[in-house]
Amino acid sequence: MPADHMLPADDRDSLEQLKIMTERIPGMIFQFFRSTQGAMSFPYLAGSGALLGEADKRLLAEDANHAFERIDSEDFPQLMTAIERSAHQQTPLATQFRLRWNADSVRWIAARAQPERRRNGTLWHGVMLDISEQVAHEAHLRRLSDTDALTGLANRRKLMKRLDEEIAKSNRYGTPLSLMLLDLDHFKQVNDTWGHLQGDQVLAEFGSLCTGLIRTEDTLARLGGEEFAILLPLTPQSHCQALAERLRHHIAGHDFGIGQGKVTASIGVAEHRVGESRERLIDRADNSLYIAKEQGRNRVISCTVTAIG
Ligand code: GH3
Ligand code: MG
Ligand code: MG
Repeated sequence: MPADHMLPADDRDSLEQLKIMTERIPGMIFQFFRSTQGAMSFPYLAGSGALLGEADKRLLAEDANHAFERIDSEDFPQLMTAIERSAHQQTPLATQFRLRWNADSVRWIAARAQPERRRNGTLWHGVMLDISEQVAHEAHLRRLSDTDALTGLANRRKLMKRLDEEIAKSNRYGTPLSLMLLDLDHFKQVNDTWGHLQGDQVLAEFGSLCTGLIRTEDTLARLGGEEFAILLPLTPQSHCQALAERLRHHIAGHDFGIGQGKVTASIGVAEHRVGESRERLIDRADNSLYIAKEQGRNRVISCTVTAIG
């Protein structure tokens, strides 16, 4: 290739343009090579200086491991698998991973590259983009879709996901798992007497009060209206029932801003049985709750073996 100054003016201009562009694009373009012996390198790297310094580029032209060392250990195996698959099937590489940035920051990087078979290995031509903001935004949306707006607790959707996860564990390891359903008593009267806004306040404070009384590994969710649920992993029915009594006691003695003793809750408890479906477990806890209401409210009922037949 002739030196820049020997090129016609038009070509020099476009070369200059290309240089400016590759230095300034918000990401990197690269060539990545993997030899048949497994040695890896980045023969070409250009792009945003924020991603890599010149010294890094020189090192990486020799050995890609200088970059791989900075990849999160959780993401490294799947990156290697993606590279392997792309080389083997000659299909585009499309993956993302976390890259350690400095002592206290990690960036999410997306890589897309096209493989090309070479005599002594595979050469990919591709781009890398910093997608940290997009990943954070997606996590934020996920949190919103799992959260009840009034109380900030998990919503029904999130509880169902957690139930599925914990039921699977309970089935696999035979570990205990309990579910508690809570329904505020005569809540319609609270609204009628104090107004809907005050009712909302009570619901929010109910969430805070219960949160303070359970473990962080328990999931407290608002199912809707004045109905709540608590999922308690690694908890047998007897422990769940004792906690339910404690909650009931605290609720009945708490002033939710409308005077002490004005808010009570009925609670139904059930322990998961190995092999039982999510719906069946909820049904049994709901049945206990129904009995608690029937028997006069402000009480805890546990689903006993005989009660479900
Ligand atoms: P029970 O002891 O049988 O549970 O009686 P209850 O009045 O609590 O039950 P019911 O199902 O008859 O009424 C539930 C009430 O909860 C009626 C509704 O106005 C109120 N409610 C449901 N969602 C909300 C909410 O988001 N905010 C407020 N303030 N009230 C709500
Ligand atoms: Mg109610
Ligand atoms: Mg209700």
